[in-house]
Amino acid sequence: MSEKGRAALFFGPGKQMEITELPVPDPEAGALVVKITRANICGSDLHIWRGDGWLGAMARPDGRVIGHEMTGYVHSLGEGVTTDWAGQSLAEGDRVVYQYFAPCMHCRTCVRHMPAACPHSFKVLRGKPNKFPYFRGAYADYFYVTPQMAVYKVPDKVTDTMVAGVNCALAQVVYGLERVHVNVGDNVVIQGAGGLGVYATAVAKQRGAGKVIVVDGIDDRLDLARRMGADDIVDFRVHDTPEARILQVKELTGGYGADVVCELVGRSQVIPEGLRMLGLGGRYLEIGTFYPGSPVEIDAGGLVTSNLRIEAVAAYDAVSLHNSVQFLERNLETLPLDQMLVDYSLEDINSAFEDQDAGKVTRASIVM
Ligand SMILES: [Zn+2]
Ligand SMILES: [Zn+2]
Repeated sequence: MSEKGRAALFFGPGKQMEITELPVPDPEAGALVVKITRANICGSDLHIWRGDGWLGAMARPDGRVIGHEMTGYVHSLGEGVTTDWAGQSLAEGDRVVYQYFAPCMHCRTCVRHMPAACPHSFKVLRGKPNKFPYFRGAYADYFYVTPQMAVYKVPDKVTDTMVAGVNCALAQVVYGLERVHVNVGDNVVIQGAGGLGVYATAVAKQRGAGKVIVVDGIDDRLDLARRMGADDIVDFRVHDTPEARILQVKELTGGYGADVVCELVGRSQVIPEGLRMLGLGGRYLEIGTFYPGSPVEIDAGGLVTSNLRIEAVAAYDAVSLHNSVQFLERNLETLPLDQMLVDYSLEDINSAFEDQDAGKVTRASIVM
């Protein structure tokens, strides 16, 4: 174990990240070590970096490797690992995607079919940087994939830039739309045409949605949403009040309101508006606002009298990650799935965060 790799350590909001060297671990039985090739900065990494809600508490005084949207290739395989979780043979050098969290699969929550809510999932990510397995985050040369983390081979045709976001945004959207059972003929409203929103547009269409209506107000994002399959747009520069947008959704759905509304903006303030876009018996999917400490006022009586359901979704299950990789492979000829990324070196990680926070780049990506 004399090999070493670089890792960017995060010490807390407002502090510069520092590059250090950590030992490359030997994988235990059932585990594997990935050589990371690319790691994106996700909206939730920015929340952590800024310390939104109580996320500043995720820092450690001795530093922590953050980041979770990533891809890479197999560096070394632990004893007994011969295939990925779909049964395809796995060897050193194979390109892979994987969960960055580790549901235990035997606690009460996992046993009750909710591994996405497993309280043990993120334990391994919180450990000390100078303790095995060292590489616990994406902004580093390596990542340690524990035996509990699902791993799938990436088909040759699916590029690194397409697949780097799959273990976060796409898998979560695939899982979320399954949780609210988007079905043939459902009219679906997507609040927010960011990364999550444009994926949700395409996935909802493939699940058979009748109409997908996207709410946003930035031309590039609306354009991408259309190319991902949006049937209608509610432009909040035109419909510039909640009332106007709700009315527009009602009109576009024959007066009924939507069957499913998805909050993919990341701001809890849009939730009351989204709930009012639903028709009777509608389902609301909450994904965007992922940090506690974001309260919002909801008309409980309105929920009850309309028989509404709310599903809140964090993380995802293994099969959603597999389905996401297959979704990319199936649609790469017809959908604009290659993300527009702006590349930075690991040494420039502080500038990457500053630039994305300032809106100079939409999506920064660290290339190892
Ligand atoms: Zn993410
Ligand atoms: Zn569990």
